[in-house]
Amino acid sequence: MTDTKRLRIAIQKSGRLSTDCQNLFKQLGIKLNLREQKLIAHSTNMPIDILRVRHNDIPGLVMDGVCDLGIVGENELVEMQAERQRLSLPSKVNKLAKLDFGYCRLALAWPQELGLIDKNWFQDKKIATTYPAILSEYLTRENISASLVNLSGSVEVAPRAGLADAICDLVSTGATLEANGLMQGETIMESYACLIQSPTLDCSNKSALIEKLLPRLKAVKQAKESKYIMLHAPKARLKEICDLLPGTGQPTMLALAGSDEIVALHMVSQETLFWETMESLKQLGASSILVMPIEKMME
Ligand code: ATP
Repeated sequence: MTDTKRLRIAIQKSGRLSTDCQNLFKQLGIKLNLREQKLIAHSTNMPIDILRVRHNDIPGLVMDGVCDLGIVGENELVEMQAERQRLSLPSKVNKLAKLDFGYCRLALAWPQELGLIDKNWFQDKKIATTYPAILSEYLTRENISASLVNLSGSVEVAPRAGLADAICDLVSTGATLEANGLMQGETIMESYACLIQSPTLDCSNKSALIEKLLPRLKAVKQAKESKYIMLHAPKARLKEICDLLPGTGQPTMLALAGSDEIVALHMVSQETLFWETMESLKQLGASSILVMPIEKMME
């Protein structure tokens, strides 16, 4: 019997998003006993169960209320929503957060030997894809009438295998396209992993747990984007030094033992501290400049 009071989160069992999902749970303080073969992993410190499934099953499980939350690529979410609308099945989810992993682009590609081509080339061509709904919407918008070849994988081999003239597939570095003799064209959609919630969730304990996890998620994201900066600065140049460090708010100033002219400054910055800025700080007399990652942060 499953405990309906425990929050159920669907994630990809194995694939590009699974390690990032597991790392995220660790950062959120959710302790899990993940064994390779198990479909469900129970958290040992929170009323949370993790359901480990195929990536394209995640949107449906959340839309149907079988799982309360899910982590899924936006590409899969948008495609599944269109497909379910077509079939008159539930297709609504609440998007709680865009996550900082799983980045990819859904792009058109064609055999390299064709060189550069423009959109009109696609008229009356065959395009292979795993994302027919997203591609159809793009083709309609661009007034291109092409036929689609729906494949569930290995889309990049379709032109060479004579199945299609071009493809529309997910790309991150472009190395797979290149290895298959394809040239990358227009990006149809950019995608990140996102956290989605079932619209049918009606349990106050589960909602309270989600309300507890969301600030943690925000804090993890903020910590990743921030740096802790420490440096020694001559008191006489404090204003100029602080002006070089935008996004740091008001730094903490500490006295240094045995020195009246130099102080220590500690601050959190949301911006990257480039080498050029560090060199300019040094020219203003700053020294012992340390830039450190932050593990956790809550405002
Ligand atoms: P499963 O193996 O779980 O059935 P899948 O074959 O779609 O699903 P992956 O190839 O691991 O699994 O892709 C999962 C998701 O990872 C994609 O839908 C996309 O959101 C994201 N992703 C990030 N980078 C890429 C990439 N370079 N190629 C494909 N997907 C990527």
